[in-house]
Amino acid sequence: MMIASEIETAIRAAIGPQEDFVALHEPTFQGNEWEYVKECIDTGWVSPVGSYVDQFEEKIAEYTGAERAVAVNNGTAALKVGLRLVGVEEGDEVLVPALTFVATANAVSYLGATPHFVDSERRTLGVDPDRLDTYLDRTTEMRGEACYNRETGRRIRAVVPMHTFGHPVDLDRLADVCDRYKLEMVEDAAESLGSTYKGNHTGNWGRCAALSFNGNKTITTGGGGAIITNDPALADRARHLTKVAKKDHPWEYNHDTVGYNYRLPNINAALGCAQLEQLPLYLENKRRLAERYSEEVDRIDGVTFVDEPEFGRSNYWLNAIMLSAEKAHRRDDVLAQLNDHDLMSRPAWKPMHWLPMYEDCPRMDVSVAEAVYERLLNIPSSVFL
Ligand SMILES: *Cc1c(COP(=O)(O)O)cnc(C)c1O
Repeated sequence: MMIASEIETAIRAAIGPQEDFVALHEPTFQGNEWEYVKECIDTGWVSPVGSYVDQFEEKIAEYTGAERAVAVNNGTAALKVGLRLVGVEEGDEVLVPALTFVATANAVSYLGATPHFVDSERRTLGVDPDRLDTYLDRTTEMRGEACYNRETGRRIRAVVPMHTFGHPVDLDRLADVCDRYKLEMVEDAAESLGSTYKGNHTGNWGRCAALSFNGNKTITTGGGGAIITNDPALADRARHLTKVAKKDHPWEYNHDTVGYNYRLPNINAALGCAQLEQLPLYLENKRRLAERYSEEVDRIDGVTFVDEPEFGRSNYWLNAIMLSAEKAHRRDDVLAQLNDHDLMSRPAWKPMHWLPMYEDCPRMDVSVAEAVYERLLNIPSSVFL
């Protein structure tokens, strides 16, 4: 049988009979969503001022084990504000995976800084700490407590690990690298709500982390995000900055810096509160689906299911399969057949240095990211498959 048909058969065996088009990841609303959203409308509390925002922040902090959470209007805004708060400024470089959704690099660019692309590890698909260490050792110099790119002369201020499809990066090893080169870590945990590293929730290793609740993520607020942190002062600054930097006062408009209007509306937070109640069930289902996929897909010669690394637990946000190097040239045939047959499937993101606005950015050898792009496919991953 052709590989595309073998993969289709495996997917169908894992998800069972389906009448309609099967999306990559569609939201599910079967809990208190309607009740909470309706309450916002009935009471008029729809804007960013309202009790669901406070509740949502408390519940996100509690669930992730972070001391504080600040809800914002999307994950990209959370990243941008997080980077600004750890000191990223115009002219800096920030280490970003070549293999990520474009928002990670864009958040750096919005601050006038330059993304500097780093390679992935095959096992986690995320930043490879050992190879990053070797690369920084060879290409940077320390001046006091600051790390400089010898080639560009720019300061390398921070690194943004991203937990790809929910699989945690090796955070302890990366934290060591950050210590050695005095880099701030801001985790892009947009895909990893519910994923843990050595028993603790991802997002707790960086100074702060960004979560996303976009419509295709594990839980959704329609659009939304959060900054989580264990640094209360940073959380206070994040809240201030995302509320147009308005100083508290009963009537005066007084702003002390150029802030942002990045708040999450109450109506979205209401959706988020209801979704969070469902999260444990979602994670259970996603794990079971991943197990079924793994069983079916690993039978195929030249195809492997992308499993969680041994040091962590993935939320299996998006399931992924990897073609062997020999089968890589069939990737587009597989994509065409699956999509034609109503099984939505996507390749990994095109590596950042292949996008026109980022092609001249500094980068290490990113051949693993390139190979992953050539060989990986995401397959249907909604909660109730
Ligand atoms: C979804 C996502 C984001 C951005 O989140 P939005 O809420 O869509 O702005 C950032 N980084 C990664 C890796 C993502 O998958």
